[in-house]
Amino acid sequence: MIELKNVSKLYESNEGNVLALNNIDLTVEKGDIYGIMGLSGAGKSTLIRCINLLECPTSGEVWVDNVELTKLSSNLLRQSRRNMGMIFQHYHLLTSRNVEKNIAYPLELNGLPKNQIKERVDQLLDLVGLKEKRSNYPSQLSGGQRQRIAIARALATNPKILLSDEATSALDPITSRSILNLLKEINNKLGITIVLITHQMEVIEQICNKTAVLKDGNIVEQGLVSRVFKAP
Ligand code: ADP
Ligand code: ADP
Repeated sequence: MIELKNVSKLYESNEGNVLALNNIDLTVEKGDIYGIMGLSGAGKSTLIRCINLLECPTSGEVWVDNVELTKLSSNLLRQSRRNMGMIFQHYHLLTSRNVEKNIAYPLELNGLPKNQIKERVDQLLDLVGLKEKRSNYPSQLSGGQRQRIAIARALATNPKILLSDEATSALDPITSRSILNLLKEINNKLGITIVLITHQMEVIEQICNKTAVLKDGNIVEQGLVSRVFKAP
């Protein structure tokens, strides 16, 4: 489903260069919940942003669904990106739009007719369990509720892949667990492949089947969670 081949990322600046990723090879299969773990500065954020090319690798290849993204024109890349939804630590909801309009936003961009948008938004609100909040604004929601809306929006266009950039890091442990359970349910029920980054081992243990540990831009450990984290 996702394959990174020999991916490196060098940030160049006057203050000095940083090799954020060093020859990364990573394979994510359909149906995986793949967790990338590491300390702050390890390269997690750069790595996940290389999957949808929000960040362009300095060298190497990125393949998603048998397409080499690193070779695509910007138009075709935009199409391929529709295969991937993304959620963030601070939700990135549009503060001037209510819940319904936040979820509808990517569908409006795709030019979906109004009645189909309404139907899809209803389905998504049902999925994340927040039908009663449809007219509220993000400022009127808790952190966990905001993340649920962000998840609904990320899934609006039916992507095959969901990328999660520290989605539970700003939440208390109980809310965090409920969001992780929702992600697990989405993976199970809808067959969506999930790649997440986190600095918390508990997140990996709770929902991931596979993991890679990043350290200073290198993968130092990789494989089934049951193998990587359990004592021999
Ligand atoms: P993590 O997500 O694991 O905290 P990042 O991918 O954000 O790690 O960062 C990896 C390294 O790359 C760090 O040393 C960071 O300072 C550096 N870095 C990240 N983004 C940039 C950038 N836009 N310009 C220069 N250096 C960057
Ligand atoms: P952003 O605008 O940066 O995407 P928000 O405006 O949603 O994020 O949140 C701003 C900050 O407040 C973030 O650090 C977030 O973690 C925190 N936050 C969001 N919702 C709540 C909440 N219900 N209770 C406490 N803190 C929250």
